[in-house]
Amino acid sequence: MGRMDLRQGIGLRRLGSTADDFQQDLLSSLYYRKGTTVESASARDAYEALALTVRDRLADRRARTAAAQFAHNPRWVYYLSAEYLLGAQLEQNLLYSGTGDLAAQALKPLGRSLEEIEDLDVEPGLGNGGLGRLAACLIDSMATRDIPAVGYGIRYDFGIFKQSLEDGGQAERADDWAFHGNPWEFPAPDDRQTVGFYGHTEPVPGSPVRKRWVPGETVLGEPSHMLVPGYNTETVNIVRLWRARGSEASFDLSRFSAGQYAEAVQEAVRAENISKVLYPDDSTELGRELRLKQQYFLCSCSLRDIIRRFRLRNENWDDFADKTIIQLNDTHPTVAIPELMRLLVDEYELDWDRAWSITRRTFAYTCHTLLPEALETWPVHMFERLLPRHLEIIYLINMHFLREVEAHFPGDADRIRRMSIIGENGERRVRMAHLAVVGTEAVNGVAELHSKLLRETVLQDFADLWPAKFQNVTNGISPRRFIRLANPRLSEVISDGLGGDGWLNDLDRLAELESLADDPAFRERWRSVKRANKVDLAAGDPDSLTDVMIKRFHEYKRQQLKLLHVITMYHRIRENPNGDWIPRTVLFAGKAAPAYHAAKHIIRLINAVAATIAADPVVAPHLRVVFAENYNVTLAERIIPAADLSEQISLAGKEASGTGNMKLALNGALTIGTLDGANIEIRAHVGEENFFLFGLDAFQAAEARINGYHPREHYERDAELRAALDAINAGAFGGVGREVAESLLGWDEYLTLADYRSYLDCQEEVERAWRDRDRWTRMSILNTARCGFFSADRTVADYAARIWRVAPVPVPRED
Ligand SMILES: *Cc1c(COP(=O)(O)O)cnc(C)c1O
Repeated sequence: MGRMDLRQGIGLRRLGSTADDFQQDLLSSLYYRKGTTVESASARDAYEALALTVRDRLADRRARTAAAQFAHNPRWVYYLSAEYLLGAQLEQNLLYSGTGDLAAQALKPLGRSLEEIEDLDVEPGLGNGGLGRLAACLIDSMATRDIPAVGYGIRYDFGIFKQSLEDGGQAERADDWAFHGNPWEFPAPDDRQTVGFYGHTEPVPGSPVRKRWVPGETVLGEPSHMLVPGYNTETVNIVRLWRARGSEASFDLSRFSAGQYAEAVQEAVRAENISKVLYPDDSTELGRELRLKQQYFLCSCSLRDIIRRFRLRNENWDDFADKTIIQLNDTHPTVAIPELMRLLVDEYELDWDRAWSITRRTFAYTCHTLLPEALETWPVHMFERLLPRHLEIIYLINMHFLREVEAHFPGDADRIRRMSIIGENGERRVRMAHLAVVGTEAVNGVAELHSKLLRETVLQDFADLWPAKFQNVTNGISPRRFIRLANPRLSEVISDGLGGDGWLNDLDRLAELESLADDPAFRERWRSVKRANKVDLAAGDPDSLTDVMIKRFHEYKRQQLKLLHVITMYHRIRENPNGDWIPRTVLFAGKAAPAYHAAKHIIRLINAVAATIAADPVVAPHLRVVFAENYNVTLAERIIPAADLSEQISLAGKEASGTGNMKLALNGALTIGTLDGANIEIRAHVGEENFFLFGLDAFQAAEARINGYHPREHYERDAELRAALDAINAGAFGGVGREVAESLLGWDEYLTLADYRSYLDCQEEVERAWRDRDRWTRMSILNTARCGFFSADRTVADYAARIWRVAPVPVPRED
C-alpha cells in the first residue's frame, strides 16, 4: 500500500474537472468500455458509460483513502449487517462527486436527459426496511466523518420482493435487481474465502480445547464492493458484499456428459442458493436452515477478510481488539462471536482465555427490537448439524459465563436458567441475543426509551450483571439522501435561509431557521415548496392535507388504527355532506412479509376502503385514500417531501426507534404519534406544542395488558368505533376485512381499540392547526429547524466516541 502504487506514483493523469474533461471521459467510456458509438448507443449504454465515468472519479478518491487509512493503522470499524437498503446510486454519486451538472451537459451529444438516464438506475434492495436502511445511513455518515470503516453484507441475487396490487391484495415478484449488471461494483475475486458447513470435529492430540473441524461441505464466498463516498470530504469507504458459489470441482462434467444435466450442477446450485435471496422477516419455518447458513457465510467470510486486513499492518494478536471493532447490526451476525473464537483457538492456536479476552473487546452489539418473537433463537440440533464446532464453542462460552453469573448471584438458580445462552424450556435453543450480550463489550438500543426498556425488561438480568455495558445511541438518517436528494426544493430554501449548504454535514445548523419561522415571505416559500412537491407526487389534490403512513406493514405499527380513522371520516362525511370538511389525501405505502397473513388482510382492507370511498360521490371530493405500490427507498424519497402529516402511531413500547419519523419531520411534516421509540425524542426536540401526541404510554400499555384488556368494552362504549367495525363486518367494503375486525374485537394484541378515541380526538387538533395556515407553516418550519439532532452524522459521532472509541482519519486532498 505504498504511496508509489497510487495514480501519482505511476504518473497516471488526473481525471479532469471541467465539462470538457467529463465529456471526453464519458465518450471514452462509451467507446472503449461499452464498445459502442454515440450513434448506436442505447439509453442503457449511456447509463452505464455515465456510471463508469462517475465511478472513476470516486475510485481515485478510494485509492487515496485506502492508502491514508492503512498508513495510519487505525482501529477500523467493521459493520456487519445482513441487510443494506442502499437506495439508488447514480444520483447519490453524482452529488457526492460534485459532477451532476457536468453529467447533464455531457449527455447532450447523446441526445439523452439526465432524468431519463437516472430512471435506469436500479436500487439494490438488499434489505427489508428500517434496519437495512439504518445500515446504509450509518456507512454514509462514517465516510462523511472520515472514519475508517468497511460495511460487510451479502450480495443477494434477489433483494426484497417487488410488491404490486392484485385485486387489492399484495402480490409478490422476485427482484432481480442486477439483471442488467451493476456498474457500481468492483468484483474482488482474489479475496475470495472458503466457508465450511456440516461435518464433524476431531480432538487435537495434546490440546484439551483445540479441535479440528472437518466440514462436510465447502462453499466459496466471492466479494465485490461498492463505493461509499463521504459528503464534502475526500474519504471513500466501501461496502463489501459476499456472493456464494461452488468451487470449480462442483460442476460434474461426467454427469453432464451422461445427460444428467440437473445432477451435474446440483452441488453448485446448492452453494449458490446461500446468497440467492434476501429473507423476508417474520418468515415461516421453511428454509430456516438456509438462513442460518447465510448468517454463518456472512460472518465467516467477513472475519477472515478482517483478519487478512489486520495482518497487512500488524503481527501481534494482542493488538487485534485495539485495531478492530466489529459492530453487529442486530443478532443476525452473532455467530461471528464463536467463529472468531474458533479461528483464534483452533486455527491460530491461541489459548482460550486470551482468545476470549480479544473476542469480547472486538465486538459490540446493537439490539433493534423489543418484540419477544423477534428475538432470534436457533434449535440446538440445527446448530449441531450445520456448525458442530460452533456449538461446542457456544457451550464452552456458556459454561464460563454461567460461572460468572453464579459468582455474582450465588444460588440464584432461576436467574442462571433465565440468562443461559441455551434455552431449556421445550426444545433446546441457542439464544442469539444472550450470546451477543455475553460476547461483546457494549450493547446499545436505538432510542432512549428502547434502551431503557431493554435494560428494564428483555435484558434486565444482564444489565444487573454489567450495568456499564448498556448504552443508548439514538438512530439518525442521512440528510444528504433524505433532504438534499429527496427534496431539492426544500434544500434550496434552507440553503438560501442559512446562506450556504454547510448544513448538509452539520445538521445542527438547521436551528438557525428558527428565526425565519415568523417571516411571512419565508413561510410563503416554505408552503410553495410543499405544494410543488405534492404536485410532483400527484397522489391527490395538492391543496389537501397529505397524511402519510409509509413503513412495513406490521400489526404493532398499527396501520389498522389509521384505517379505523379513515372509515370514521368516511361515515362522518356521509352523514353530513355539507360539513366544512378539510380535504385529505391519506397515503399508505409498505410491504407485508409474504407469510404474514394478518398484515396482508390489512392491505386488502385499505384498498377496499379506498375503492368504496372513490366510488362515493358524496365523500370522494373530501377524502381520498391511496395505496402506493412497492415501497422502497426511491419511493420514500418521492413521498416524504410531499407529506404534511406523518403517522407514527405504533403501540407505545413496541417500535424500537423508527427512522421514517425522522425523515418526515426533517422534511417539515408534523407528526401525530404515540410516546414510542424516537417519537419521544422528536417531540422533546420540536417542542410539545409542535407535535400531536395521543394514546397510552408504554407503562400504561403494559398495565392494560396485565389488568386484563377487553377490546369489546371499547367497542360497546364508543358508537363511532362500533360503526366502523360493524361496517367492515356488514361487508360495506366489498365484503373485505372481516379477519381484521375479528382480530381487533377478539384479542387486539396491540391495543388499537384502546387508543382509537384518543387518536381521533388528536386528529381534530390536527385539523384545527391545519385551518390556521400560518400556524401550521410555523410548526412545519420549527420541525425542520429543531431536528438536526436526527442526522446519522450525530449517531455515528456517538458510536465513535462512546462505543468504538475511534477518531477520524482525514484523507489529504490532492494539491
Ligand atoms: C426509512 C425507511 C424505513 C423505516 O421506516 P419506519 O417508519 O422507521 O419503520 C423502511 N423502509 C424504507 C424504504 C425506508 O426508507
